[in-house]
Amino acid sequence: MILIDGKKTSELLQSEIAEEVITIKNNGGKIPHLAAVLVGNDGGSETYVAGKVKACEKVGFKSTLIRYDDTVTQDELLKCISQLNCDDDLDGFIVQLPLPKHISEEKVIEAINPHKDVDGFHPINVGRMVAGMPAFISATPFGIMELIKRYKIETSGKNCVVIGRSNIVGRPMSILLSQKGIDCTVTICHSRTKNLKEVCAQADIIVAALGRAEFLTGDMVKEGAVVIDVGITRVKSDKTKSGWKLLGDVKFDEVAPKCSFITPVPGGVGPMTIASLLYNTLLSSKKVIYK
Ligand code: NAP
Repeated sequence: MILIDGKKTSELLQSEIAEEVITIKNNGGKIPHLAAVLVGNDGGSETYVAGKVKACEKVGFKSTLIRYDDTVTQDELLKCISQLNCDDDLDGFIVQLPLPKHISEEKVIEAINPHKDVDGFHPINVGRMVAGMPAFISATPFGIMELIKRYKIETSGKNCVVIGRSNIVGRPMSILLSQKGIDCTVTICHSRTKNLKEVCAQADIIVAALGRAEFLTGDMVKEGAVVIDVGITRVKSDKTKSGWKLLGDVKFDEVAPKCSFITPVPGGVGPMTIASLLYNTLLSSKKVIYK
């Protein structure tokens, strides 16, 4: 069994990005610039955004943090987005989700210029991905594909089961895995899927993204399978200093011994997301996706 080390892979990707930034600087080019818009004081969002800003500094990007109180109106936020869309110095920006209930996330995402949508949530980027065109791919699916590529996991003709059909993980994963060049035969499962255990037991690759702690058990996985665990559920624990721990969607102790490759939680898919966002920003600054 090979443990897929997301932390190490993420650090490697970030050091590759940092090297590119040095080359850009040495050639007198423009330093990539990422902005993040944070609304309110949600603890989780604060941590994520702080992590993104810190990662920008580490790779040598310029970063800007724009903060709004959670009383900001939708119109004010849309005005900010249209200013960011026109800011020539910015290569990309993100609006940290979730947003307060009085603001439509759909309207906010649609207002972002797809050329600067480094989160890859705009329908134009999603549509381009579906059509197999160059697109900003959202961070979690991008990170998973990067792990699959870097660990040279065989995908062509393999039976892949994706559990979960959300717009941010399950559905894009099912599309990316079935695209030309990756060539998996993909089954996408959800809460209405029948005989999930039997479906999973046929899979060469399982992507578990349903958000149910330790859902995938040993008897659902065949010998030699590749298991990618996307789930993150925070549960109470008296064994940690913080009083809580993170669990994935996979019952790791039962499943890991049967696997050829498996991602742990924490330290698997999670650490890849920030690196993926930085990579998209670099692609944007190099005008790789939109010429
Ligand atoms: P989500 O929007 O809640 O979607 C969950 C999906 O799982 C839905 O499609 C749902 O089916 C399906 N599902 C729920 N219970 C099921 C069951 N018993 N059997 C089969 N399918 C079931 O969740 P998400 O945003 O995709 O996130 C999934 C998990 O990944 C969460 O734990 C989240 O925290 C984690 N996550 C991690 C990262 C990371 O960086 N590692 C990033 C994003 C998300 P229906 O459509 O029928 O309701």
